[in-house]
Amino acid sequence: MSEIAKAYDSGQVEQKWYRFWMEQGYFTPQIDPDKKPFVIIMPPPNVTGELHVGHALTATLEDIMVRWHRMKGEPTLWLPGVDHAGIATQVIVEQKLAREGIDRHTLGREKFIEHVWEWVNKSRQSITYQHQKLGASCDWTRERFTLDEGPVRAVRTAFVRLYNKGLIYRGERIINWCPRCQTALSDLEVQHKDITGNLYYLRYPLADGDGFVTVATTRPETYLGDTAVAVNPKDKRFKDLIGKKVILPVIGRIIPIISDSAVDLTFGTGAVKITPAHDPVDFEMSGRQSLPVIHILNPDATMNEQAGPYAGLDRFTCRQKILEDFEKAGLLEKTESHSHAVGHCDRCQTMIEPEVSKQWFVKIAPLAEVATKAVVEGQIKIIPERFTKVYLNWMENIHDWCISRQLWWGHRIPVWYCQECNELIVSAEEPATCTHCNAAKLVQDSDVLDTWFSAGLWTHSALGWPDDTEDLRYFYPTSVMETGYDILFFWIARMIMMGLEDTGDIPFHTVYLHGLVRDEKGDKMSKMRGNVMSPVESTDVYGTDALRFALTTGTSPGNDINLGQHKLEAGRNLANKLWNAVRFVLKSLEALPIDGQELTKLETERPEPLEDRWILSRFNRLIGEVHESMADFQFGEAERQIHDFFWGEFCDWYIEISKIRLGRSTISPLPVLTFISEALLRLLHPFMPFITEELWQNLKERLPEGTLGPASIMIAPYPAADEKTIDPEAEQVMDSVIEIIRSIRNTRAEHKVAPARWIEAQIYADKLAPAIMLQSEAIETLARARPLTILNRDRRQTKGEKALAMVLKEAEIVLPWAGMVDLNAEKQRLEKEIDTNQKETARLKERLKDTAFISKAPPAVVEKERSKLQAHEDKLLRLRQELTQLS
Ligand SMILES: [Zn+2]
Ligand SMILES: [Zn+2]
Repeated sequence: MSEIAKAYDSGQVEQKWYRFWMEQGYFTPQIDPDKKPFVIIMPPPNVTGELHVGHALTATLEDIMVRWHRMKGEPTLWLPGVDHAGIATQVIVEQKLAREGIDRHTLGREKFIEHVWEWVNKSRQSITYQHQKLGASCDWTRERFTLDEGPVRAVRTAFVRLYNKGLIYRGERIINWCPRCQTALSDLEVQHKDITGNLYYLRYPLADGDGFVTVATTRPETYLGDTAVAVNPKDKRFKDLIGKKVILPVIGRIIPIISDSAVDLTFGTGAVKITPAHDPVDFEMSGRQSLPVIHILNPDATMNEQAGPYAGLDRFTCRQKILEDFEKAGLLEKTESHSHAVGHCDRCQTMIEPEVSKQWFVKIAPLAEVATKAVVEGQIKIIPERFTKVYLNWMENIHDWCISRQLWWGHRIPVWYCQECNELIVSAEEPATCTHCNAAKLVQDSDVLDTWFSAGLWTHSALGWPDDTEDLRYFYPTSVMETGYDILFFWIARMIMMGLEDTGDIPFHTVYLHGLVRDEKGDKMSKMRGNVMSPVESTDVYGTDALRFALTTGTSPGNDINLGQHKLEAGRNLANKLWNAVRFVLKSLEALPIDGQELTKLETERPEPLEDRWILSRFNRLIGEVHESMADFQFGEAERQIHDFFWGEFCDWYIEISKIRLGRSTISPLPVLTFISEALLRLLHPFMPFITEELWQNLKERLPEGTLGPASIMIAPYPAADEKTIDPEAEQVMDSVIEIIRSIRNTRAEHKVAPARWIEAQIYADKLAPAIMLQSEAIETLARARPLTILNRDRRQTKGEKALAMVLKEAEIVLPWAGMVDLNAEKQRLEKEIDTNQKETARLKERLKDTAFISKAPPAVVEKERSKLQAHEDKLLRLRQELTQLS
């Protein structure tokens, strides 16, 4: 038998058991067609580096669910993975190379990708290690990377299917262009920031005759791409101008004045410049009005050859130059300060340019319709429910999804162009020759797909789709998708759309959204603020179980979590308390071994001692409540319930009371102590896997062989509530006994009675008197009350002695003063305190009578003195009452 250490050493215990679980293959489920599996596909962390606390929260919540279901006997799969994270990874590697003085363009595509792979392989190892440290019980044999051969085939197949159905098209649309990343971005990848800029009023001279039309714009440089000026047909101010022409200053291009009902009469002057290549509304208008589209920017946001004398200038330098030129020519009417939202690249914070570009898009409406239906009809449930509305709202206003990215890192678009006949070939397999002219000169589209395209296939591609695999048949649709609410649209929505499209079935039954992890004060964690908490460091200092406890206890779905030292310490304290409590049971078992029958007997027979019946009843109620909370996805609440039972009822009361009986010849409390400790460890295992395994194995060693069957707590059954043990009568009596002990303890504390001192107590009760009497030893010991008399109420004697009386729910307690304190010493103490208080009261009264003080001192100071006086007068009154009680 191994010696049980005095204190819990998390570092040593965690490694040992994680390795054991891995070696035993417990994380890999057995496929059993007769059983319904429980499945979670892990949201794959980006291969961009370290895991943050948000990942630790994801891993903990998923591990809680997975361990719980596994212990309930369901074939449980938690499939881990990592995301290649296209743009995010590319930007990081670019920055890393830039620090070494290397530019990706001089390096070339192939060499650059080699650098990315090098980074990715290191990063993947570190992510796996960190997950293992967190205790994640995922099936590493099924681990996937979004760029693995399987997912690559899934992406190509999905693309080809959508293309053949007409749901993927290539077209010219206004997209968000990042001049630094030099790629298109989807709307979701753009951050809108409120910026105070200017609204410039520019004058365009009329082509024939005098006068000009004034237009207002925040981006004067775009005038170079103007192909019309538009006014609203209802606007009487411009009625005579429609059909006339203006000359664009400096470059001299002549453009028409047109009317279009989309023009907002209240913006600027009412006449607006139309730049189809660089504005979504203008682009649409250009289609209706057959206006030319003139593109004025190079990919890096310098001006292109269309900019005439401004060609080659950076967009912002160009803006200044244009304003100067207009000013000189008397064509800048005025400048107004103007605040508006400006899009920035989510990855590099560069100001994006809306511009027309030939890109690949997913026609989203038909996919969104099906995905909306699945949620409206309840096939997919979103927790917390309030996010359902957010989801549906977004689905209603969704736009076609731009999926091509001008990046190098990611899934290449499966499209080839014939260099001979220009034929476009869309194919899952690389074609050898042109399907039209048979030529072998084919060039693949150089773009890659938006990362969220492959992420959208994750639930089915990770299980083997497009192949008809056993995993896909058995584990799909999955049970729960657990992730942060911040990626509801990026990811959840797209998985629902793509899952339904590819497989005809929903990807998961339940979406569980957790909140953001903030710091102790509720601030967002960020490197800038310096309040980032590293999960690995926290596990090193406090232990993994403590971190898991801190992250999840008392939290509820969708709400943000404040995490700080304080919570981590609470987690560690719980681990230590658990260690000490179970260690006490282990030590007792070493001294007084029990046989297995004594334990199994508890499952069928009700023990005699009241406190045994009480704790078993309370424990079974707890199990019921925990099941309810877990089924309701209230894991934080379940954890709180277990914590409160363990710390309060079990440690504070049951263990303390049981110590009285321990070692006596009467009925031993050890079977019940062991029974509850063992089941409590199982109940707590999903939340704190390491310490529970270590203690459980120690229990197993100290019980006769075969008493605890399974080789590990993680494959032992989760406790089920046993209705038979619910004992309202025992609960009522014990509630009273606890209330009595508590009241006596509180009174002792109030009157500063020395902890070792025995005090006399009389208890009067009605129908519970006989039952309470049986607990007299517990009351005596735990309240240090001796002599103790317990009588029926009608036998209450009024001896006329000075005493304190307390009325409780089921009983009355009388504590004679003489028993509690040394009367003379107490009298002296009170008199001395009364004296000090009287002096202070007098001083304050004197001060407040002083008119000079009252008139000169600030009112707040005077008010403070008044409340001080009030407090002293109150205290004096109470001290005097106490003194009369004594004499
Ligand atoms: Zn960027
Ligand atoms: Zn061809």
